[in-house]
Amino acid sequence: MSDHFQEQLQALRAQSLHRKLREIGTAQGPEVQIVGQQLANFSSNDYLGLANDPMLREAAAAAIAEFGVGAGASRLVSGTQSPHVRLEAALAKWKGTQAALTFSSGYAAAVGTIPALVGKEDVVILDKLCHASLIDGAKLSGAALRVFPHNHFGKLESHLEWARRERPDARVLIVTESVFSMDGDRAPLRALVGLKRRFSALLLLDEAHAVGVIGANGRGLAAEENLTRAVDVHMGTLSKALGVSGGYICGSHSLIEWLVNRARSFIFSTAPPPAFAAAAMAAVEFLRSEAGEQRRLLLWDRIELLREAYPEISPPIVMPLPNGSAIHLLQVGDEQASVDLSRSLQVEGFLVPAIRYPTVAKGAARLRITVTAAHTEAQIRQLAEALQRLRPAAAVAA
Ligand SMILES: *Cc1c(COP(=O)(O)O)cnc(C)c1O
Repeated sequence: MSDHFQEQLQALRAQSLHRKLREIGTAQGPEVQIVGQQLANFSSNDYLGLANDPMLREAAAAAIAEFGVGAGASRLVSGTQSPHVRLEAALAKWKGTQAALTFSSGYAAAVGTIPALVGKEDVVILDKLCHASLIDGAKLSGAALRVFPHNHFGKLESHLEWARRERPDARVLIVTESVFSMDGDRAPLRALVGLKRRFSALLLLDEAHAVGVIGANGRGLAAEENLTRAVDVHMGTLSKALGVSGGYICGSHSLIEWLVNRARSFIFSTAPPPAFAAAAMAAVEFLRSEAGEQRRLLLWDRIELLREAYPEISPPIVMPLPNGSAIHLLQVGDEQASVDLSRSLQVEGFLVPAIRYPTVAKGAARLRITVTAAHTEAQIRQLAEALQRLRPAAAVAA
């Protein structure tokens, strides 16, 4: 048995696709310590620097003092503790929806929600670059799956025509992201909404990398484009810009009540610790405040600084369409070259992960650089300078 795994691991190494965990002995933040080395951290999704914020720490500590650590059981079994109820009310208010439901992770939100919405008679249509959690949720639902090339609405339209022709009574669910996690570009939401309306489809929008970053008070792309009502299912995570852990779905009262009754990852899993809910609630309240909005605008200053200092970075800004996010890439292509470049950056004091198959397609390896509001201007300038110097000839910004 173990020999079998050894062989498979050896095959991964031969393809430069082997992955290893790296121990960090510090809190997440703009600097982390990895095996004794201090590194400027351009790898995390803690876009607003909240993961180690005193406000969130205090909210969690106060909730631990009052509610303890564990939640005891699933929320349907041992009761829903108040921090979860308060967090869901705050999320719904912030997102501008009737109701909200939280899950133990964004992954759990996806794999619990999609199969609750569609079944084997139905159709799910996904963008090719959708996150693994959305793909897994779609597969688990048993619905017919159709994938359209990234942001290619001609192909989406033909899938919708196929669905309406072949399965006239089916429920059709379109699944996409507002900011794509490994490419950093956005979905043209207005065009998507036009299509979903024409074909009476449902739309699930995963705002994992948009909340806290895009839209007034970080409400996300749907809010920024004034399309909150047009999106049937708003998904997001509490683990990225909100700095904590957990996932959420926002939508109508009936959707949320349905999920409480049908989402298996919600029903058959112990509730997250109440302290996480209290910390996430502090994050939502911060985002809704003037100070939170200032932090978000500071993040955009830092994003613009990196783009000025290193313009070759992708995705390119296509004006006048507003686009961009806190996620940037340096396209490398070759898996080994991307790992080598990441290592050279680490020697110089920067933590910038190489992203490889199966997270992205084979031969599409890249460095993924995330900017946060907590980075100093000097850190960003130094990174840009190191990228200029170390970028191998093969690396081209797309
Ligand atoms: C990170 C991520 C998730 C999963 O969220 P977790 O809270 O980390 O489980 C879902 N969708 C997208 C697009 C993500 O980037």
